[in-house]
Amino acid sequence: MSELHRLPSVDRLLAHPAIASLIESHGRSLVTTEVRAMLAATREAVKGGAPLPGEDRLVEKVGAGVTAKATPKLRPVFNLTGTVLHTNLGRAPLPEEAVQALVAAARSPCALEYDLDSGGRGDRDDVVAELLRELTGAEAATVVNNNAAAVFLLLNTLAQRKRVVVSRGELVEIGGAFRIPDVMSRAGAKLVEVGTTNRTHLKDFAAAVEEAPTRTAMLMKVHTSNYAIQGFTHAVPESELAALAHRHGLPFVVDLGSGTLTDLAQWGLPHEPTPREAIAAGADLVTFSGDKLLGGPQAGLLVGSKELIAKIKRNPLKRALRVGKLTLAALEAVLRLYRDPDRLHLRLTALRQLTRPEADIRAAAVRLLPVLKTALAGLPVAVEIVALKSQIGSGSLPVDRLPSAGFAVRPQGRRSGVLNRIEEGLRGLARPAIGRIEDGALLLDLRCLQPQEEGEFAAALAGLERNP
Ligand SMILES: *Cc1c(COP(=O)(O)O)cnc(C)c1O
Repeated sequence: MSELHRLPSVDRLLAHPAIASLIESHGRSLVTTEVRAMLAATREAVKGGAPLPGEDRLVEKVGAGVTAKATPKLRPVFNLTGTVLHTNLGRAPLPEEAVQALVAAARSPCALEYDLDSGGRGDRDDVVAELLRELTGAEAATVVNNNAAAVFLLLNTLAQRKRVVVSRGELVEIGGAFRIPDVMSRAGAKLVEVGTTNRTHLKDFAAAVEEAPTRTAMLMKVHTSNYAIQGFTHAVPESELAALAHRHGLPFVVDLGSGTLTDLAQWGLPHEPTPREAIAAGADLVTFSGDKLLGGPQAGLLVGSKELIAKIKRNPLKRALRVGKLTLAALEAVLRLYRDPDRLHLRLTALRQLTRPEADIRAAAVRLLPVLKTALAGLPVAVEIVALKSQIGSGSLPVDRLPSAGFAVRPQGRRSGVLNRIEEGLRGLARPAIGRIEDGALLLDLRCLQPQEEGEFAAALAGLERNP
């Protein structure tokens, strides 16, 4: 207790040269709050028996606290997880064209809902509707916040208090609590499950419709994005479902999940169904994500018949689920890249990362190995270049793995705690690097480290060396 009177006052600390320079850069209010909080915490600690820290130590603590407060929460990281479309890391990185468009739209007023030809009010969907029609073959298109919103809006518009027939094999749960049955009930639709987990036939759908044709709103197909049912399986082709739906005057709708706009097989990637294929097979509405394989910003895209899209746009919930100008600016720029399919794999960042050759990734590993070794020198670990398997991510193409390369850091002896320390150190960098610990090794997959970021990554590693 007696020592407490030796703690410096708030005013004394604020006059300290180091604190004064903090005030210069961060403002008096933030720094004063931090000084008060630090003194209160120190007082408690000393009462609890901790030694009284010196003034320099107190100043240092204030500096650390202010820096932590001033560091943005949402900041860039290095994605070394090996998962390209990593939902927790923001999914698709945007191509430069989209970044530029987004910045321009952010900085200035833009013709978001303003028709420059007539000088009258416009429709924000028109920013991308024509591109979407062109790239999918659909008659009309609209955009909402994400694909979950697209599915919800579609069901709420067309299937309230009505039945929606879906195969039991497609009652998908996407990470983050998006479950088709739950979305259905929240949207006011009645789910009618048909078939079995592994096999569903046309006659299952037909029987469900014929049971209550007037109370049925639609037939629905949900792409099983994040799992595969293999072995003795049967799913009904989209064209047959569309024909059955149309015989009963019902729409056939498809939730594609990812939905890329080109055939990925041309780059040696597994084929992923496209909206164009679904529309050509007779789907009346197709929904897909903007930030999965499409490689754009978070958005939910709905394409399909003029009549149904118009109905969806009239739902008042559309207003609640609409996207902002930043999303539209980025989305338009990304969709434009699809008009030049020959160079898409060079310009669309997500696709460039997905198609990056293993040899190219390995060459980056060779360049960076000495830097990592220096950063970890003195720690009881062995570092080597290893072959790795990247994942596409975001529930896209779940069973396929891409040959990749990177580093494995393994503890020498039984010092497994050291890996967690390094992993934490990497996460604590000014630009955090996120790897994964697997089978007793810290794995750093270099697929998503863009060549122009290698210098920054090397510099960041040097920071690890100073502060292990
Ligand atoms: C990913 C996915 C969704 C959700 O899309 P978000 O854009 O993440 O909202 C819905 N359905 C399927 C089949 C999906 O794969």
